Amino acid sequence: MRRKISFLNLYKQYLSIKEDVDTAIHNTIIESAFIGGGNVKQFEKEFALYQDSTYCVGVGNGTDALEIAIESLELPPNSEIIVPANSFIASAEAVTRAGHRVVFCDNNETDYTISIDSLINKISSKTAAIIAVHLYGMPCQMTEILDVAKEHGLKVVEDCAQAHGAEYLGKKVGSIGDIGTFSFYPGKNLGAYGDGGAIITNNEELAKKCRMIANHGRVEKYNHEFEGRNSRLDGLQASILSVKLKKLDEWIVKRISIAKRYKESLEGIDAIKIPKDSPGNKSVWHLFVIRVNNRGPFINFLNENGIETGIHYPISLPKLAAFRYCNQANECFVANEFDNQLVSLPIGEHLDSEDVEYILEKIHEYFK
Ligand SMILES: *Cc1c(COP(=O)(O)O)cnc(C)c1O
Repeated sequence: MRRKISFLNLYKQYLSIKEDVDTAIHNTIIESAFIGGGNVKQFEKEFALYQDSTYCVGVGNGTDALEIAIESLELPPNSEIIVPANSFIASAEAVTRAGHRVVFCDNNETDYTISIDSLINKISSKTAAIIAVHLYGMPCQMTEILDVAKEHGLKVVEDCAQAHGAEYLGKKVGSIGDIGTFSFYPGKNLGAYGDGGAIITNNEELAKKCRMIANHGRVEKYNHEFEGRNSRLDGLQASILSVKLKKLDEWIVKRISIAKRYKESLEGIDAIKIPKDSPGNKSVWHLFVIRVNNRGPFINFLNENGIETGIHYPISLPKLAAFRYCNQANECFVANEFDNQLVSLPIGEHLDSEDVEYILEKIHEYFK
């Protein structure tokens, strides 16, 4: 029987936590705790604890989080910062906005995180930092990245926008490097009901600097030490995020079990390349991305059978018009050659096992 399977279903998720979310919103309005206040402090505390980090600074969104985190490192202006070629544009945009230069490196063919060989290749005397994107919820090879960083005196920013709760060798991502950033965009694994973001770090100075940059360069009301900006996690979003954080581990377990089922069932299909995670790490499977040659007809077939899919990302960053000026469109083979093969299958707590079996049945039918 035909089913309708959406890529994401935030309304269904809301129904499962409705009472707590409604109460949280109601209380925030009663307290008029819209900007700053108890909810934001509370969530920052809870999220730092959840991510095994000492400090957490709530900000306006994940892009701001990256930009502010980079700025807090106080790197020489126009430093080169290495960014993986396959990511969301924010990972690179923030580098330029913070006054530095983007240098793209390639992604691994197996797990799509940063390629260490390519990273090493891209280091120059001007390189100052690495943006380690835990893409699709999969932790990067942090030991190797930290080794390279140490050898060359580079800072490491972890872009964890897709990786809340992910673990590298038993350690939560985000404060393995110098500083980590998160997005609470509604569709992320931990999503607000609007924009939101956070920065985490174990470094007190960096945390303080980030808080000041995000708050007009001040620590007290009218005592501005430098020109900062305004980037806030607001009280309503913080109160909703506190409710959802309690459910996150349960939702991650669901994602891991769906990914496991996808992997065991799709392994036998030669025309599909499945993502490989390493056993010592915990991927949180924000996305389950496979590679398929000539993906158009495959996506159409799934769509005709009621199954929504996504593409993350259809054009690798160096090939975007926005980065034409970088002249790096031919340097990252994996990201640039395989971007026309990527297909994201539905994954998330909104799917039941019958949905997953239906998706697999249709995929097998297509490749028969
Ligand atoms: C979503 C995302 C961001 C940006 O987050 P926003 O909250 O949308 O600004 C940054 N990096 C990656 C890898 C993302 O997926």
